[in-house]
Amino acid sequence: MPELPSWMLVVSLFAQTEEAAAVDTVPVETHPLINLAYLLAAVLFIFTFKFLSHPRTATRGNILGVLGMLIAVGATLAMPGIINTGYITIAIGLGLGAAIGAGLALKIEMTAMPQMVGLLNGFGGGASFLVAGANLHENLKASDASLLTPWNQSILATGLSGLIGGVTLAGSLIAFAKLQEIQAFRKPISFPAHQAFNAILALLALICVLGLGANPSWFVLYWALILLAGILGIMLTLPIGGADMPVVICLLNSYSGLAAAATGFVLRNNALVISGSLVGASGLILTKIMCKAMNRSLPNVLFGVMAADDGGASADDVYEGKVKSAGPEELAMIFDGARRVVVVPGYGMAVAQAQHAVRDLMNLLESRDAEVLFGIHPVAGRMPGHMNVLLAEAEIPYEKMIEMDAINPTFPETDIVLVIGANDVVNPVARTDPKSPIAGMPILEVDKARNVIVVKRSLSPGFAGIPNPLFAADNTLMYFGDGKKAILDLVSAIKES
Ligand code: NDP
Repeated sequence: MPELPSWMLVVSLFAQTEEAAAVDTVPVETHPLINLAYLLAAVLFIFTFKFLSHPRTATRGNILGVLGMLIAVGATLAMPGIINTGYITIAIGLGLGAAIGAGLALKIEMTAMPQMVGLLNGFGGGASFLVAGANLHENLKASDASLLTPWNQSILATGLSGLIGGVTLAGSLIAFAKLQEIQAFRKPISFPAHQAFNAILALLALICVLGLGANPSWFVLYWALILLAGILGIMLTLPIGGADMPVVICLLNSYSGLAAAATGFVLRNNALVISGSLVGASGLILTKIMCKAMNRSLPNVLFGVMAADDGGASADDVYEGKVKSAGPEELAMIFDGARRVVVVPGYGMAVAQAQHAVRDLMNLLESRDAEVLFGIHPVAGRMPGHMNVLLAEAEIPYEKMIEMDAINPTFPETDIVLVIGANDVVNPVARTDPKSPIAGMPILEVDKARNVIVVKRSLSPGFAGIPNPLFAADNTLMYFGDGKKAILDLVSAIKES
């Protein structure tokens, strides 16, 4: 998922606030001009997705998305009927939402962007079920029998919005805690009969949806549904960790779209149905791509509860007496004879903001006739596409970013692999220990290169929390330090050598 620029985050919060504020004013029939505006917005959203699919055109995609959102929001505000009840409330909602969104978007560190996007997914789910619930409340207040007939479209969509929105909000909050690396949530958490408990929760939630369908005036069932869906969202996300988190992030993103689409049916708002479906469908496609890249099946991610700690090798067992480290001057000598260098970036490069220093290193090595490529793992960093975005920001050409399947067979012919702040995505344990939290995850097989240099600050583990035998391998040299400073020092040492 490409990183959203600050102004787009603001606009998406803006839109969600508008959605929440417009709750009790959206008329069932809409003017043809408004539907035309929605159609235009939908076309713009479709082009947004087309352009977002390549980094080169992603900015254009973002601009079209913002334009589509503005048209959709503008058309909704222009609906006949809104003026009777809501402009002041809407203005307050917009003002508050925009202020909070702008504050967050401007303040947030780039490395915290994945959590932020995760949180916004959750807010989308929350806004959807609140809007659907408020609409039901209005219908009950109006005592309009035609809106309260059993099994009508609106009540069934309300139930679905409550179910999916509740799971999305609570699941996203747990995902946020995991991405924020809050200690209590870092490891997968599960308990005996976890899946049976989840199945009972899902069944009870479904009974609430059906009960609400049979009798729309049982409003209490709606809140029971939200509660059950919330617990289900927490229970589904708690046991997930390590290699599976990226899949869950994509899935929650998709759920937020589906919840919005369901609310679109509640309000009979075409723009919401279309934009929600687009987010839902694209999120599902991304989920499938991630599953394939991670060699996981979706049921395995969702229902294959992980052991919290399988008692795998301790850091002392893996590292004691085996780790070799070097400074920039020694490393400069190794680079002297290198003809082919592959840089493998990971989350630490994002933390250190070392991408520009890496570009300088690339230019220097290329000026000395070495070939420099970048090996990109699909889940390196903390969000899909994280590394591509950072490298592109430093104007490293896209042609040099080689995907895992293409670069892996070339490692035995590579003189130096320079690992910068990557850990889990190069951990050979994924191939050797079936009980590890990253078991089965395809990795960048850098251990097969002639020389491996790993830049990181210490021997601390990565996101999955496990030691990495690569750091103790015979052909590995550790280069301890902050990623940016380490690369800048290396560049100076190579220039002086
Ligand atoms: P990891 O999280 O495995 O490792 C990052 C490493 O960076 C750490 O070991 C850390 O070591 C080092 N580091 C941190 N700060 C710096 C710094 N300033 N300078 C140098 N090094 C630094 O990252 P990977 O990219 O290898 O793997 C991504 C992990 O995140 C996978 O487990 C993946 O499943 C998970 N994930 C990915 C998502 C995605 O969509 N891409 C979403 C959610 C989770 P030290 O502290 O010693 O410096």
